[in-house]
This record gives sequence, C-alpha cells and structure tokens, in this order.
Amino acid sequence: MNDFEGLSALVTGGASGIGRATADLLAERGARVAVLDLDPSGVDKPLFAHRADVSDDASVRAAVEAAVADLGGLDILINNAGIGAQGTVEDNDDTEWHRVWDVNVVGMVRTARAALPHLRASSHAAIVNTCSVAATAGLPQRALYSATKGAVLSLTLAMAADHLREGVRVNCVNPGTADTPWIGRLLDAAPDPAAERAALEARQPTGRLVSAAEVAAAIAYLASPLAGATTGTSLAVDGGMQGL
Ligand code: NAD
Repeated sequence: MNDFEGLSALVTGGASGIGRATADLLAERGARVAVLDLDPSGVDKPLFAHRADVSDDASVRAAVEAAVADLGGLDILINNAGIGAQGTVEDNDDTEWHRVWDVNVVGMVRTARAALPHLRASSHAAIVNTCSVAATAGLPQRALYSATKGAVLSLTLAMAADHLREGVRVNCVNPGTADTPWIGRLLDAAPDPAAERAALEARQPTGRLVSAAEVAAAIAYLASPLAGATTGTSLAVDGGMQGL
C-alpha cells in the first residue's frame, strides 16, 4: 500500500517503541519520514534522524526546520515523545510534576507550534498525538502520568477546533499497555520480570499486551488521506480496556 506516497512526516520519540514502529510503517507506505528524538543513534536510512529534546524549545525549532529541509516540506506530525511517572499525588514533588508535564504536554505544544506553519502549506495536513488509556481509565499509581495524558486529550480537541479551517486535522490514539522498550524497562526493574510480565498480561482484557505495530497502524490510519473527514477524535488501541 503506497497511500503515503508524496507525503512527508515527522515522528517525535521516533527512535523507539510506538514511534519507531510508526516511522517505519509510514516509510514502508511511501512517506518521507524524519525522526526527532533525544537519542536517534539507532535510526538509519530511509529515515532522517534529528536529535532534539522536546522540553527545549530552541532544540525543537531547530530540529523541525532541519527535518523540513530534509523532507522538502511537512504534511504529517506524529507527536509521540513521552515519559512515564509512577505514584500518587503524594509521591511526586513539584519538580517531578514540572519535568514530566514539560515533556508530555508542553513538548507536544512546542513541536506543533514549530510544525504548524509548514503543515498549513499542505493539502493533506494531519497531527496525531499519542495519548493513553490513562487519560480516562483512572489507573492507580499513575496520577501525574494520567494528568499529562488527560491534558493531551483536551489539547487534541482544542487543536482540532483551532486548525480545522486551516485544513489541519488533529486526532489522538489511546494505547493500552503496549509491548515497547518502555514497558521492558519497567518489567526488568521488577524482582521477577517474567512473573511481572505474566501478571501484567493477565490484567489485560485480551490476556496480552498491545503491540507497537497495532498502535502504529492506528496512528497511520488517522494520519492518512483516507481519514480526511476525521478530526478531534481519539482512537483506543487498548485490547478493550476502556469498554470493559
Ligand atoms: P519508548 O520509551 O519505547 O520510546 C519513547 C521515545 O521517546 C524514546 O526513543 C525516547 O528517547 C524519546 N523521548 C523521550 N523523552 C524525549 C524528549 N524529551 N525529547 C525527545 N524524545 C524523547 O516509549 P513508548 O512505549 O514507545 O511510548 C511512546 C508514547 O506512547 C509515549 O507518549 C507514551 O506515553 C505513549 N504510551 C505508551 C504506552 C505503553 O504501554 N508503552 C501506553 C500508552 C501510551
């Protein structure tokens, strides 16, 4: 399927997990793709790689401009970079709240701000934000992380309204627990990673984790010209978690 032929995409957090699966899928389907990541060292052709920290505005602006120069324009922004946080409101201090908020929420704002002037010039402009089931599920021990993803959901709706008439669609995906290096690191930190993985899988309605490829496929749909009538939506890829 070459439905992204002639289109250019930028994927933040595109060096690992969901972002990497998305960058590879869009490239396979004909897009020119650039990755923006803290550590893009493992990213190679046909992807363009740019090192940037989404919590640093100057670094984001420089990387977006460099990516647009490589790609020859920009049609699609996948706002995916994000980090985790565990605990209740009593466990994370103000410094931690600001640090995670700055990456997960303001990071998406910074990248969108830098990308929008280029996206407006496209006739197939789309932004897809990586949200989470945590935005609406009321997960225990995830107060800070859930609040950031709740903000991403609201931001998606507000941006969809603001940029509709400019021809820029804005949607988000809400993954459940997805089998990425992020989850691998969490499991590796447990006393018995295999037992922890089995317990995590048993908590999923489907008895298994979501794959990065399944989330990437949903992101690609929302970014594709075939989703041209879809804006301001969230697409759950959570193994049924929200419905059960
Ligand atoms: P991951 O850790 O495998 O990949 C995240 C990538 O983002 C990494 O390459 C990392 O270097 C990059 N990154 C982190 N901070 C950055 C920063 N400040 N600037 C630039 N790049 C940065 O994680 P993943 O599981 O693929 O998660 C990707 C997104 O999916 C995140 O927004 C996360 O909140 C969301 N998500 C993940 C899950 C899950 O279970 N894995 C579930 C729901 C939502």
